[in-house]
Amino acid sequence: MRYYIIVFFALCSFISCQKNNSNEVNIYSQRHYEVDRIQYENFQKKTGIKVNVIKASADELLERLKNEGNNTPADLFVTVDAGKLQKGVEMGVFQKIDNNVINSNVSYDLKDPNGYWIPITYRARLLVYSNDRVSESDLSTYEDLANKKWKGRLLVRSSSNAYNQALMSSLYANLGKEAVTDWSTNIVTNFARDPKGNDRDQVKAIAAGQGDVAIVNSYYIGLLLSSKKQSEVDAGKSVSVFFPNQGNNERGTHINISGFAMTKNASNKENAIKLLKYLTSVEAQNTYANNSYEYPANPNVLPSNIVQSWGDFKRDTLDLNTLGIYRNDAIKVFDQTGWK
Ligand code: FE
Repeated sequence: MRYYIIVFFALCSFISCQKNNSNEVNIYSQRHYEVDRIQYENFQKKTGIKVNVIKASADELLERLKNEGNNTPADLFVTVDAGKLQKGVEMGVFQKIDNNVINSNVSYDLKDPNGYWIPITYRARLLVYSNDRVSESDLSTYEDLANKKWKGRLLVRSSSNAYNQALMSSLYANLGKEAVTDWSTNIVTNFARDPKGNDRDQVKAIAAGQGDVAIVNSYYIGLLLSSKKQSEVDAGKSVSVFFPNQGNNERGTHINISGFAMTKNASNKENAIKLLKYLTSVEAQNTYANNSYEYPANPNVLPSNIVQSWGDFKRDTLDLNTLGIYRNDAIKVFDQTGWK
C-alpha cells in the first residue's frame, strides 16, 4: 500500500496531475503487462496525445476515484477483472460509454449489458496438465477436479488472488452455494501443496514434478513458451492446455475480460474515447494478441499463433458483472473451506 502511494505521488509530480490539459489522457491501471506501454506509445505517436498511467491495485484505484471525486486526474480506469468494473459501477465512480465505433469493434457477448465498460481483451482460466503423467481423457470439467483421483496432484495459487475469486464467483453463480462449498472442500483435499506463487509458478511446479494439473490463465502459457529464459520455455513445453466444461450440455470455460471504464469526472473525455477507439481497432488488437497472448476482444482479429494452436473453445456466457456481484460470497467459501 505504502509502495503504491509513493509511486502515485512520484508519478503525480512527474505528470503534474493537472486537469483540463487537452493534449493528454490519464489512466488508473491495474494491468501489469509490458504490452500496455507499447500500445500507449503507439497511440501517442499517432495522435500526439500523451498517455499518463498510474498503477496500483484495482481496489486502491477505485478507492482513490471515490475519494478524489470531482478532482480526480483520471479519465479512464482499466483492470483485468469485470468484477472490479462492476464494483466501480456500484460505487458510482464511472459514466457510461456510448460510441458506435468502439461498440462495433468488440464482440457482443463480451460487452457490459449496462454500457459502463469496454472489454479490450479476454482470457480463459483453463487447465494445464503434465504431458508425462496425465492424459487428456482424464480431464473434463472444473467440477471433476474435486474427484478423489486428483488427490495430491492439483496446483493452484492462493484464494486472495482476483483470478481465483472470479473463478469461484462464476462457479457460485452457476452451481449455487452448497455445491460450490462441497467442490471447494474437495479441491483443498486434492492440493499437491499449500497454494503459493503466481500462475507461472504452478506450471513450473508441474515441470518439476510437484503436481500434475494446474488452474491458470491462458496467456501465461503463451508468455512461458515465448520467454527468453530456456527454463520457462521448458516449463511451458512440459504441459498441455485443456479447456474445461466443453461438452454439449456444459456451460463453457470460465473467462474474464480486461476492460476500461470512463471515470465519472473525466476531463479529457474526447481523448479517452480516441484511445478506446484505437485500443479496440484491428491494429492495436493485433498488438495485444501477439505481445500479451490474451484473446482479442475484436472478433476480426485472430489470437497469436501459439494461442490458435490450442484450438477454439466455448466460453461461459455468464454476464461478467456477476463476477463482482458474487465476489464476497466466493471469498466466504474460500475461508470456510480452508483454501489459503
Ligand atoms: Fe495476469
